[in-house]
Amino acid sequence: MKPIPAANADTQAYWEAAAKERLLYQVCGGCSHTLSYPRGVCPRCHSGDLAWRESSGRGRIVTFSIVHRAPTPAFKADVPYVLALVDFDEGFRLMMNVLGDDALDTKIGDPVEVIFEARGEAQDKLPQARRTK
Ligand SMILES: [Zn+2]
Repeated sequence: MKPIPAANADTQAYWEAAAKERLLYQVCGGCSHTLSYPRGVCPRCHSGDLAWRESSGRGRIVTFSIVHRAPTPAFKADVPYVLALVDFDEGFRLMMNVLGDDALDTKIGDPVEVIFEARGEAQDKLPQARRTK
């Protein structure tokens, strides 16, 4: 089975929003840095003053790799698949899979939008990317 989200105190709000197909990120009150994945302190200035914001879900491919060898048996049916770094319009970066019929045509700079992949018995929602035209 593919990994499913395991929420903790720092990530609970993030995963609750993801379950409703909303992508959250954090803004630091100390230095205005935008970040995701969610953390308890800002990686730039170590402030714990982090506020949640909702992303538009739109961004661009920074770089990507096409995975041909599954890291675990759970991903064997998916190869080849695309693993990418996506810069979202609000200024944070996430590593995610690019899904969709045309995912293998991914190019650096492609615009993408967030979509949510349901995983596991509880159908937990995981943010992923899909190319937009
Ligand atoms: Zn900061």
